[in-house]
Formats: sequence, structure tokens, C-alpha cells
Amino acid sequence: MNKRIWLSLAHMGGREQDFIKEAFDTNWVVPLGPNVDAFEKALADYLQDDRQVVALSAGTAALHLGLILLGVKPGDEVICQSFTFAASANPISYLEAKPVFVDSEKDTWNMDPVLLEEAIKDRLRKTEKLPKAIIPVHLYGMPAKMDEIMEIAHRYDIPVLEDAAEALGSKLNGQMCGVFGELAALSFNGNKMITTSGGGALICRTEEEAKQTKFYATQARDAAPHYQHTHIGYNYRMSNICAGIGRGQMFVLEEHIARRRAHQALYTNLLKDVPGITVMQNPNDRFQSNFWLTCILVDPKIAGKTREDIRLKLNAENIETRPLWKPMHLQPVFVDAPFYGNGTSERLFDIGLCLPSGPMLTEEDVEKVVNMIKRV
Ligand SMILES: *Cc1c(COP(=O)(O)O)cnc(C)c1O
Repeated sequence: MNKRIWLSLAHMGGREQDFIKEAFDTNWVVPLGPNVDAFEKALADYLQDDRQVVALSAGTAALHLGLILLGVKPGDEVICQSFTFAASANPISYLEAKPVFVDSEKDTWNMDPVLLEEAIKDRLRKTEKLPKAIIPVHLYGMPAKMDEIMEIAHRYDIPVLEDAAEALGSKLNGQMCGVFGELAALSFNGNKMITTSGGGALICRTEEEAKQTKFYATQARDAAPHYQHTHIGYNYRMSNICAGIGRGQMFVLEEHIARRRAHQALYTNLLKDVPGITVMQNPNDRFQSNFWLTCILVDPKIAGKTREDIRLKLNAENIETRPLWKPMHLQPVFVDAPFYGNGTSERLFDIGLCLPSGPMLTEEDVEKVVNMIKRV
């Protein structure tokens, strides 16, 4: 049997172990420490927008604390992109707030600004309140239409929490994803652009917000010699060991982005004459996706085969692919949430497939995947 081609595998550059060794040698095997500080600084420098970065235990934790910083309380409504991973929406429920889901537009597959405004107006009519926050997602690394989304958010004075978990290094108008909203979340889970084995970060605009984030992430301890608490806190900080991996990964981030973009370009080239199959592209040159995963759409009427035909055949050939995210408004757990739709995410879920991507993938692997698709 051939070696399995995986959807997205982590890749270590080599420096990671040096930083972990340093932590062991200096006995900083604890949450917080020099690796955490250095990793946060490296990320802030990389984002180039005078942001404060707080390293946390997960991207989900970053979204949770982000909503707390924006003042989301039980009963509040929060608008969230429907076409995403459940981790974008779950933190809304942690706070006993209510998700309101908004569908995607066809260019970026992300939050449709037209539907966003419709949703805001309709919530105002129905509840006499504005939603407390907006969570757009840069899915698969493709920047959402942040110009339009921020314009609407400003007009209604609603803060934006960007879910940039998949979009480290993606740019819109030359600016990094994660610097458009009031706050933004990154993820360093095993299959993301860089990994810390598991981890995340909250990108903040001000030192005060970063301070608040650290406060809530370390059990909300008041300034007193004894343990005193006036708020409910969390244990969400990143460990000095995980941050050592992250520090090392920063040296290979650009290479990871280049590799994933090269795979997307190669897939595009090799699949260009296959009827009924289209590869996800940047809508125009203002958008620069990191192409975290290369995604294709399979039009069964033209291709003569469905997305599932292709997925099952590739799986039998030891190639891992995955349907696009199942929209949140179709998830049993969110059946009761309001939804403002246009059919886009449902269609993408029906006909979309993520292809193997990632720094460990070779050109031969891409050619093999394409040949197998052509054979189906
Ligand atoms: C991975 C991911 C998250 C959650 O990040 P974790 O670090 O796994 O908690 C959130 N949103 C999106 C879109 C993701 O892909």
C-alpha cells in the first residue's frame, strides 16, 4: 500500500527543540516564561500593525476571551459567519449569549456584507437591540471582505472579533488578517499554518486590552498578596514549552505560506482542463490568501461525478480529503439560532472538497492527487 497522503501535517523547522531545551535547562517548565514573551513579540512584529499579542492555550480560548473583552453577556446576540468550524461559534454559547448566523458571499466564501447589514437591521427590529459583536472568519485562509464589513460595523457601532485561526500570513489590501477588527483570534493547533502542538493567541489593539486578556487567562487574580477574586477567571495561558515550539515555527512560517501557495498554484494548473472542477482563487489582487488548504468545487452536472464520488475514491487510494465545513445553521446544536441566508454555504458544503495541502506535501503528491481525480 502507498504511504497515505494526509490533508495537512505539521512540519518542524529545527529551531523548536532549541527553545524547548532552553526552557528545560533554565527550569522554565511552567505556564508563562521567556519563550511566551518572545513568541508574542515575534507574532506582534510579524503582524506589523502595532498590535499586542497574548499567547493562549487555544484559538477557542482566544475567541472566548475576546467576547468577554467586548462585554458579551448572557442573553446578548452575537453575529457569526455560518460557514465555519464550530469553534468560531461555541464561545458565544459558553457565555450564554445567542449566535445569529450570516451566510457567505461567492467571492471569498466568507461573511456576506449585504446579509450582515440585513441581519443587523432585522435583529434591531425584532429585539430592539443591536448585536453585541460580529465574528467574521477568514476561512481556509481567504480574507473576508473586511472593508465592507468594518464599514457596516462602524456605522452601527458594533465591535468586530476576527476569527483569523486559519489565516496567519494572509493579506487584504497589503494588511495582515487579524489587524482589521477590534480583536482577532489565531490558532496554533496541529494542522494550522504554524503549530505549538496546541495553542492560540488574541490580537489586541491596546495594552489595556492585552492586560485584561492576561488577567482573565490567569484566573482573574486581583492585586493582593493573598488569592482574591472579583471576577470569574480561566486557565487559558500558553505554556513556556508550547511557546518554545511556536518561537521555532516563526522561522519557517514564510516557507509554510510559500509552500501552501505553491500547492494551490500547481493544483490550479493541473486541474484547469478538467470539466466541472474549479479551484478556489483569490477574487482579485487585493486578496492574498495563505491558501491554508486548497479547496475545489465539483459541479456534478458537468463533471459527471459528485464530490463524494471523488472523496471516497481518493480515500480508497489512501489520500485524505475532506468536505468543506458544514455550516453552523445546519448543525443540530444550533437549530434554534436565527439565520440570514442566500444558499451559498449550503451549496459549498454540498459540492466542495479540501485537498491535501501543507508543508510536508511534495509536488509528486499533488500530481498523484490530481491524477486520481482525473481517473474518477
Ligand atoms: C482551528 C480553528 C479554531 C479554533 O482553534 P483551536 O486552536 O483549535 O481552539 C477557530 N476557528 C477556526 C475557523 C478554526 O479553523
